[in-house]
Amino acid sequence: MNTFSIAIHGGAGTLVKGIMTPDLEAKYRADLKNTIDQGYAILEKGGTAIEAVEQAVKILEDSPLFNAGKGSVFTATGSYEMDASIMDGNTLNAGAVSLINGIKNPISLARDVMEKSEHVFLAGDGAMQFAKQLDYKLEDDAYFYDEFRHKQWLEIKDTDSFQLDHSTKKDSKFGTVGAVACDKDGNTAAATSTGGMTNKKWGRVGDSPMIGAGNYANNKTCAISCTGSGEFFIRGVVAYDVACLIEHKNLSLREASEEVINNRILELGGDGGLIAVDAKGNIAMPFNTEGMYRGFKTSRGQEEVSIYK
Ligand code: ASP
Repeated sequence: MNTFSIAIHGGAGTLVKGIMTPDLEAKYRADLKNTIDQGYAILEKGGTAIEAVEQAVKILEDSPLFNAGKGSVFTATGSYEMDASIMDGNTLNAGAVSLINGIKNPISLARDVMEKSEHVFLAGDGAMQFAKQLDYKLEDDAYFYDEFRHKQWLEIKDTDSFQLDHSTKKDSKFGTVGAVACDKDGNTAAATSTGGMTNKKWGRVGDSPMIGAGNYANNKTCAISCTGSGEFFIRGVVAYDVACLIEHKNLSLREASEEVINNRILELGGDGGLIAVDAKGNIAMPFNTEGMYRGFKTSRGQEEVSIYK
């Protein structure tokens, strides 16, 4: 039987230990562990990689600790605009949504775009009409509200600045969430979901819903979910770049993902990290920031939940 495995992230950045209380850190660790265990249980029962990554991301979206679903950051007008994408490494089918609001689990809408529409990417009002047609229940803004993120927004509201989740002048943290998995049949999948950046305007969309930039899966090479400064990850076509280095330069999963995160994206000026899995269940989780909320579990008995380097 193929080694099966799952890896997740809850964002990368300057996760300075000093601003994290022991209590809060325990909450983050508990949510990450619970997410891995539930995703892994799906794979163990013979579920598909797509099922596992969707479920893992839903759990992270439901936690207010992360910038996706409940707890998403505020836009310049005080609203929520969420982005998500999912890709099946076996069929190369993909689905993505951006600039949506009121949807409890954006990742499920992305999966529905993949499976129930002729399209790959639906945005804004159109994506909302699609959700309505599928009878999605809409949550009001109060459901997504998180006091900490509201305070963050009030600090820069009415200015031209926009910032990554939890960033202060010096410290930044990206709270996007993602999952990658390889199932018992050796099929891979990737899923990514985010509220984007605090105080973003003009319909700004980052890398998370963009296939090839923030999310990609192909059994031939790897499945990837990214977190970081989206503008740079888009320009670096980061997720697909890792796959290309494996396919065309014969690099291993680890070599390819480290090359992109520690060299190529840094040279462009971007920071962040990614999680990656291949069809043999190998995992890599490089990041060029101080920390990245992350975890993984494999059928070889390896398991880890970590935050800092
Ligand atoms: N990559 C996301 C974006 O630019 C942010 C993040 O990773 O938290 O929207």
